[in-house]
Amino acid sequence: MIMLIGVPHDFNSSFLRGAALAPSRIRLMEKDGSSNMFSQLGIPIEEDETYYDAGDITFSSNHGEDVYKNIQSNINAQLMHNHKLICLGGDHSISYPIIECHAEKYEGLNVLQIDAHGDLYENYEENPFSHASPFARLMETGLINSLTQVGIRSLNTHQREQISKYNVNTIEMKDFNFDFISTLKPPLYISIDLDGLDPSFAPGVSHHEPGGLTTREVFKIIHTIPFPIIGADIVEYNPTRDINNMTAMVAYSLFKELVTKMMD
Ligand code: MN
Ligand code: MN
Repeated sequence: MIMLIGVPHDFNSSFLRGAALAPSRIRLMEKDGSSNMFSQLGIPIEEDETYYDAGDITFSSNHGEDVYKNIQSNINAQLMHNHKLICLGGDHSISYPIIECHAEKYEGLNVLQIDAHGDLYENYEENPFSHASPFARLMETGLINSLTQVGIRSLNTHQREQISKYNVNTIEMKDFNFDFISTLKPPLYISIDLDGLDPSFAPGVSHHEPGGLTTREVFKIIHTIPFPIIGADIVEYNPTRDINNMTAMVAYSLFKELVTKMMD
């Protein structure tokens, strides 16, 4: 079964809080009636039929290690039943334990990250669980076969060094085209940081990084991948920065397309 899981946690954000409010706001988009429940590929995406809502993970502690273990145990409990998961963050720090669990289940896991940022800091503000570092932590595990990053437009010297250290395939936004899609291989997990989109398309994020992907380009990436994906997350939506739920609707629409792409 395909399961939706909310991960309302934003204590590892370096700049602004607010992403913890995201899962409930994104769910509202299904109920508010302004769009129907069909994906663009013609598939009805209905709760309790196409997917099931497992609710939100609850956090009794915001200590980095506790949060990491809490997310892992919740995700492993779902993966044990062979469910396929779409997690709604939360800031991007939640993707480290989520993807690590997937990499333990799916040998040779490949990851596609859509993001304005590399999120590859070795050490950011002395917080190993920072949302600036999840992909450094993942590459350190040795469990990830390949990481492809798209939409990136904020690299500094340290992050470029990390990219070459971990042999990451980074498609910087200044060089963007769709050619990378032909290099993607299963099993594939997709992590979408909404700040990968241009702020004009997705203003409800903490970090407004100009010159990003259009919503249509992200849809096209999802639609063009020639095989089903095994898991996905949508992170960094910050409702406190949104305008009339515009970005919540972007997240909900991406959710529907990702569910479609998860069906065998
Ligand atoms: Mn990110
Ligand atoms: Mn980002």
